[in-house]
Amino acid sequence: MKITKNIVIFFALMVVFSSCGDSWKNYISTEVDIEMGKSAQNQYDAIYADQILDEKENKELYKSINLIIERILKSGKVIHADDFKWELKIINDSVLNAFCLPGGKIYVYTGLINYLDNEAQLAGVLGHEIAHADKRHSIDNMAKQLGLSSLVSLVFGDGSGLVNIAQSLIGLKFNRDNEAQADEFSINYLYNTVYDASEANGFFEKLQKDNHTEEELDFLSTHPAPENRKENMLNHWRELGGKKGNKFEENYLAIKKLLPKTDSEKW
Ligand SMILES: [Zn+2]
Repeated sequence: MKITKNIVIFFALMVVFSSCGDSWKNYISTEVDIEMGKSAQNQYDAIYADQILDEKENKELYKSINLIIERILKSGKVIHADDFKWELKIINDSVLNAFCLPGGKIYVYTGLINYLDNEAQLAGVLGHEIAHADKRHSIDNMAKQLGLSSLVSLVFGDGSGLVNIAQSLIGLKFNRDNEAQADEFSINYLYNTVYDASEANGFFEKLQKDNHTEEELDFLSTHPAPENRKENMLNHWRELGGKKGNKFEENYLAIKKLLPKTDSEKW
């Protein structure tokens, strides 16, 4: 990967400012999130080349999920709603997961869309993923893990180190504080949309009801589950005032019908 001039400048700025304190992420420009995200996106796009649904061929499906994302971004609570390059890709796979790369590249598996019961539940998961990017959790964790001197040598080295950073985003686990914050902000975002924020924890509720174990769940392997995550979300919703919103159940059934048929359904 070629290091862009901008990245060098931004990291250099970060080095200067880092002497002001240990909260590095405040001094790393969001351009770094965007550049890192782009590099990781290239890798994911290659991994899922055969499975990413074509937007032109699945216009209505993309339009429906993009509308949910747009409502969240317009909630007024997403700090980087305007400066990140938010983009959706839908992966045709039965996996129950979704993720968002730094800078706003969102990937959702058709398995997750198919599993949930209403639009508000999917908005809850998307809100959670958007929060990881908006709160810059990956960059924050990397800055802490790598340390200042390593970052400097990466920036002034041959650039291969930056590729490694982007690669380390793949399968990255967030820590419990990150998860708690993403859950909290998922509620905050939804609370300021038409969606019923009390449904934001619907995914966890369904998983529990269906007796899924942690080990079999991809979502939980990349998003470790602290105790009482589901209850904490509901409590936060109550603290905000417990306002009910729309679940859009019927609308969601229509969205599910837009999903590609599985092999068994084809027969
Ligand atoms: Zn998470």
